[in-house]
Amino acid sequence: MDKPDNTAMDLFEKMAPDGYEQLLFCSDPSTKLKAIIAIHNTSLGPALGGCRMWPYQSFEAALGDAMRLSRAMTYKAAVSHLSLGGGKSVIWGDAKAEKSPALLAAFAKHVETLAGRYIVAEDVGIGVPDIEEMQKHTSHVAGKPTQKGGSGDPSPATAYGVFCSMRACLEEVYGQDSFEGKRVAIQGLGKVGFDLARRLHEAGAKLYVSDMDPELVANAGRAFDADPIHGHEIYRVDCDIFAPCALGGIINERSIESLSCRIIAGAANNQLADNSLADELMAADILYAPDYVINAGGLINIYEELNHYNQERAYQQIAKIYDRLKAVFALAKEACISNAAAADRFAEARLNGKES
Ligand code: NAD
Repeated sequence: MDKPDNTAMDLFEKMAPDGYEQLLFCSDPSTKLKAIIAIHNTSLGPALGGCRMWPYQSFEAALGDAMRLSRAMTYKAAVSHLSLGGGKSVIWGDAKAEKSPALLAAFAKHVETLAGRYIVAEDVGIGVPDIEEMQKHTSHVAGKPTQKGGSGDPSPATAYGVFCSMRACLEEVYGQDSFEGKRVAIQGLGKVGFDLARRLHEAGAKLYVSDMDPELVANAGRAFDADPIHGHEIYRVDCDIFAPCALGGIINERSIESLSCRIIAGAANNQLADNSLADELMAADILYAPDYVINAGGLINIYEELNHYNQERAYQQIAKIYDRLKAVFALAKEACISNAAAADRFAEARLNGKES
């Protein structure tokens, strides 16, 4: 007799507590495609979210990433007043070595079977040319090239949203939102981090930067007079703002001890390794700007593409993150809760139809 296999039950148990609607496991042996599409919630609209191509260590790591990121997309869209749900997909593989037009086609055909319940966009390992490739096989794509009426790479829009949010943070902590003479430590100088560094430098901030790629650090040194910081030393930099723009989970029990900043505001998704850390940050008098509130610029920009893209209009919408974040700070103070909990309240009120 076959041994009982509890894998399917485990999956349902993973989905139920946070209300995931659907998981789609996509396989195509001829191209070696292994992908997962996670749809968390579509109550406000179709689930829009990036596709990440990454060489995960295990199936669990790939699934965990897809699930966590899709839930964050639900909250991001809800708090940003967009008529979108939350979804995310992951292709399990090395984007540099294994990505091919055939693999992207196989993946896009799976997206097409969802008939618009999921709209795919860029993420780590998947860029605008890949989205164009997918578009040959499904119309449910966003983040198309600007030359073709699309909104293009969302990263500069994300950087702009984070920049506006930092202003709100400075205003909250120092009573004025100027960057002149402020010290900002940026972890990760990729598509978002580098553009953010440019804006901050132009606004008069002093920058401290780290990245695994020494060339990016050197470039930032030359272009923005940024001081290079090695690896985990970035947490210890005595600064006004620490901006995580690389990985998730970097605020954890270990790193929190090292922090020497007044504000945490960055682009990375799921920055807190667990929610209780939001209270610890509050107790340490560090202002945390909830990640999914402030990194929504790219999503807002892509959303504009669905309504005939206009960059000026899109950036006006992104600038509103400033006021949204101030509203989060105000609710947190009024209710004596962390900023992360206040952001969740805003998102959940909208998801539950209790807010216009
Ligand atoms: P990216 O891949 O272009 O850049 C990430 C950078 O981080 C890379 O240069 C990488 O070398 C560096 N890095 C990785 N690990 C590091 C470490 N331990 N220390 C220092 N640097 C490290 O990605 P991106 O598009 O710039 O996105 C950055 C973060 O923001 C990601 O977490 C992403 O999920 C999130 N985000 C991006 C967007 C967007 O529009 N691109 C939108 C929302 C959220």
